[in-house]
Amino acid sequence: SSLLSGELIGDEEKKENIIRPRLLEDFQGQEKLKENLSIYIQAARERGEPLDHVFLSGPPGLGKTTLAGIMANELGVESRVTSAPALDKPKDLAGLLTTISPRTVFFIDEIHRLKPAIEEMLYIAMEDYELDWIIGQGPSARTIRIPVPPFTLVGATTKPGRVSSPLYTRFGITVRLEFYSPEELQSIIERSADLMEIRIKKEASAQLSRCSRGTPRVANRILRRMRDFAQVQGDGTVTTSIVKSSLERLEIDKYGLEKLDREILNTIITKYSGGPVGAETLAISVGEGIDSLEDFYEPYLIQQGFIKRTNRGRVATALAYNHLGLDRSDNENQ
Ligand code: ADP
Repeated sequence: SSLLSGELIGDEEKKENIIRPRLLEDFQGQEKLKENLSIYIQAARERGEPLDHVFLSGPPGLGKTTLAGIMANELGVESRVTSAPALDKPKDLAGLLTTISPRTVFFIDEIHRLKPAIEEMLYIAMEDYELDWIIGQGPSARTIRIPVPPFTLVGATTKPGRVSSPLYTRFGITVRLEFYSPEELQSIIERSADLMEIRIKKEASAQLSRCSRGTPRVANRILRRMRDFAQVQGDGTVTTSIVKSSLERLEIDKYGLEKLDREILNTIITKYSGGPVGAETLAISVGEGIDSLEDFYEPYLIQQGFIKRTNRGRVATALAYNHLGLDRSDNENQ
């Protein structure tokens, strides 16, 4: 098909849907978490009750949205998806909660961004399956309680520290998603390749798994680009030489760092003498939004040991100097 046809975009979306795991057994890695969840799910299903409210935290692309969908499928119930910024007025939340079927999995993304009025409404809904609703105005205003069907709230966030404790303590199940190991990512890549009918050599998937930032979404995205390079520059099979040349083209290094990651390290070292530098200053210096800096770039750089977070800001480690081929003594003498 032509590169210019709109079909390709639609195709890409469809493929994204094909590879999204629907059941717990398709969800690769995170064994301990899966084991626990499957017990909670089975128990709730046997009792005919909604699953306890679930709090999911972790960097973007690790499977929070996917897990919410899986819980609904495994429970055999409906799922509803929204995000905190979309819940502007109490009636937005009430509109959703009064129209769900019993035991629905209600997913709220970016739960740390709820407005106070919505958050308070949610406390009562989570505890009593009721909504506090104000009718009338001025002195004649009064509050009534409206029942809603029992439901499971799944709240997801990349910033668990920003969630208030009254909200946090109302979740019975808390799950912290961690970066995936290369072995786990390799099985994700191989499963996706299978579903997308991409031929990939074992050594090539192993190589990709090591530069996917511990993140399934990144692994799948890089895999799709590899398919393009293999198709146009090779014989359609993703081999180690395709991976090597494509990663160079994409400016992804052997640690999985992208151009902006290296810019962040370089900025801390050369502009701020190795740090500490505050996150906001750093975001402005590299021309990136503070949210994507804090949620996407930093966690992986910290996990890999390139930067450290201190009270006074971010500091580059010896590994960062080494990786960029810079001399640490230049900064230490200052
Ligand atoms: P989040 O909500 O945490 O940002 P998503 O649930 O949207 O992340 O996951 C991003 C993509 O990665 C999804 O399309 C899904 O196909 C894939 N994915 C995430 N976790 C897994 C996993 N454990 N196994 C297989 N694929 C996964």
